[in-house]
Amino acid sequence: MIHIVGAGPAGLIASLFLLEKGYEVEIFEKNKEIKSSACGEGCDLKSLAELPFDSLPYIERKVNEVRWFFRDKTFYVKTEGCVLNRQKWMEAMAKEIMERGGKINFGKKVVGIDNNYIYFDDGKIKYDICIGADGPASVIKDYVGNEYDCKIGCQYEIKHHMKENRLEFYLDKKFSSYYIWIFPKKESINVGLIGKFSMLDEFLKWKGIEGEILKKQAGSIPCSLPKKLVKNNVALVGDAASITNPFSLGGLTPIIYASKILADNIENLSKYEKEIKKHPMCNPIFLKGMKAAESITNEEMEIIFNRINGKNIMKVKWRDVMPLLRKPSLFIKMYHLGKAMLNSMKWGW
Ligand SMILES: Cc1cc2nc3c(=O)[nH]c(=O)nc-3n(C[C@H](O)[C@H](O)[C@H](O)COP(=O)(O)OP(=O)(O)OC[C@H]3O[C@@H](n4cnc5c(N)ncnc54)[C@H](O)[C@@H]3O)c2cc1C
Repeated sequence: MIHIVGAGPAGLIASLFLLEKGYEVEIFEKNKEIKSSACGEGCDLKSLAELPFDSLPYIERKVNEVRWFFRDKTFYVKTEGCVLNRQKWMEAMAKEIMERGGKINFGKKVVGIDNNYIYFDDGKIKYDICIGADGPASVIKDYVGNEYDCKIGCQYEIKHHMKENRLEFYLDKKFSSYYIWIFPKKESINVGLIGKFSMLDEFLKWKGIEGEILKKQAGSIPCSLPKKLVKNNVALVGDAASITNPFSLGGLTPIIYASKILADNIENLSKYEKEIKKHPMCNPIFLKGMKAAESITNEEMEIIFNRINGKNIMKVKWRDVMPLLRKPSLFIKMYHLGKAMLNSMKWGW
């Protein structure tokens, strides 16, 4: 029996892979029901197809492009992705887990763990193997000794029809030290940013987006490379493990790949940690890309966007960016940004 703490995407997806391999699973979830945490709900299609579960009915919109904006300038890349109805997707995965014989204990908050027992306010249970999938404020990660930095994101889901089937990212330090996103759903959009709601309100005013706010959520996103994922018979996955793409800040695709690796190595957890650390999703280029995006100024953005305005980033030629060699610090930032973008597109965001 494998015990799992948390019925978020990481706990549910790890359970599905483990059930597929013939293991028994029992999840402890502090909420009384499945409850999606803050999320833009964007996911790439290639990684979704890896799941031993049909996610197609829970896709609200397919997208075929990611487009970046700086004021009136833009560039883009083609992709195959989607925006999910994450709440319904998670509820359906939970139902499937129970139909396949897995157990989910709702309203069961884990308060601690040691080498033998998982602790609750009202008792404890002995475990053989435990998976900590309890999100960014994980209690299990404290036992394992994992540490990470986080960014704070806030988001509205707004009633608004977006015509374009694309994910939009806006770069402008006036609103966010990182970026702002707009992801289309069927009859609504997820609009969010790294920063505060007051800045998001300013952005909406600037963009001229009005509409009923259907949901308001905020949360932290781990943005460090995973450090320590395993201690004795306890392993971490998802945000608790800091297995996210620190550049795109996407957590769903990394959860899918990591959960598959975890299920394959559940009886040899140190191999799980080794496999994760050498996986392309843990390429340090994502961290470098994140740092470049944080440190770039609006003036530098203006220079870059002027050179590649309107272009598909895959078709940008050396001659388009060569003049930037005269500004070495900007050239290095642009190199890291470009590499992180291309790597995200290659293996999943
Ligand atoms: C604003 C924002 C936008 C984002 N947008 C995207 C996006 O568009 N695409 C993308 O891929 N990623 C996105 N992410 C990241 C993504 O949401 C996370 O990576 C993902 O939710 C992590 O899943 P998880 O299961 O590890 O953690 P969580 O979703 O946090 O789930 C953890 C679960 O564990 C439970 N739990 C916690 N503590 C305990 C405890 N002590 N005992 C029992 N249960 C417990 C919680 O109730 C919860 O159900 C975004 C994040 C934020 C904050």
